[in-house]
Amino acid sequence: TKQQRLVLVTGANKGIGFEVVKKLLKESSSSNDTVILLGCRDLKRGQDAINQLGSPSNVHLLQLDTSSASSISHATDEIKQKWGGKLDILINNAGIVAKDNTTDAAREVFATNYYGIKIINEHLSPLIKENGRIVNVASEVGAWTLHDMSNDLQNKYKSSSLTTKQIDALVEEFVSGIESKRLDELGYNTKFPYLIYGVSKVALIALTQIEAREWSGAKNVLILSVCPGYCATDLNNHGPGARSAELGADSILYAANAPANELENGEFYQDGKKKPK
Ligand code: NDP
Repeated sequence: TKQQRLVLVTGANKGIGFEVVKKLLKESSSSNDTVILLGCRDLKRGQDAINQLGSPSNVHLLQLDTSSASSISHATDEIKQKWGGKLDILINNAGIVAKDNTTDAAREVFATNYYGIKIINEHLSPLIKENGRIVNVASEVGAWTLHDMSNDLQNKYKSSSLTTKQIDALVEEFVSGIESKRLDELGYNTKFPYLIYGVSKVALIALTQIEAREWSGAKNVLILSVCPGYCATDLNNHGPGARSAELGADSILYAANAPANELENGEFYQDGKKKPK
């Protein structure tokens, strides 16, 4: 018998993450060869999502608040104890936008969009099977935000010798620059309305490159960042002109499913194409 594939999608109770689960379910419906962990911070919302799918036998709820280190630890234990401890694909989809331009809002955004993913990947990368994948859901907004920065700052984020400690320091400098009103001086474009969100995705795209360098080696694991494209979800109040979340899910699943020789480790993809960072 074929070995079962274990996939975790974070923030999967709605929006693009939910569409990813639906598509994984469709892919697997003939052979039941995929077990899907639907990551959700709120058990009730997660259960509603599973009910909406018709409670398929291969979709299971995993409580995971990606901004909480203790929740990440619990979820890791559950994967080890209940699900055999070997993941094929991890899709870090959970993400938020900033409520406003305050330091508190920024802290919340970075906790979910950057630090949370960093901690999840530290916990779960040892569980990823040979030839497995980690897909970090970033955004093209990150690429725009990067190109809007001073050259000096761009060079820091793009440096091939960048370390996670240095990204953390850049993030902390950014967040404290909000309070001290020094963002312009630091090289950020404060006219950009989605600056906090954008910087969180810049940090994630940079982190992905480092993780790819550090972890992929022996097990042939690919670690990629993706943009799902502008999709109508609650994140943007179903913004006008946005495409369907289903197409966003396709963009994410390309990175999860494409043959390894089509992909470059650590790179940023959208709709099946490598994007310049
Ligand atoms: P939604 O707001 O529709 O869904 C976000 C999901 O993430 C929800 O399930 C939400 O759970 C969950 N989530 C948020 N914070 C946490 C947390 N701390 N722990 C666990 N789950 C959490 O957004 P989208 O589907 O649009 O976004 C999905 C990803 O795609 C995000 O990373 C986003 O940045 C990215 N993206 C989206 C684009 C778009 O146009 N929609 C464009 C580019 C990137 P809950 O229901 O509990 O709030």
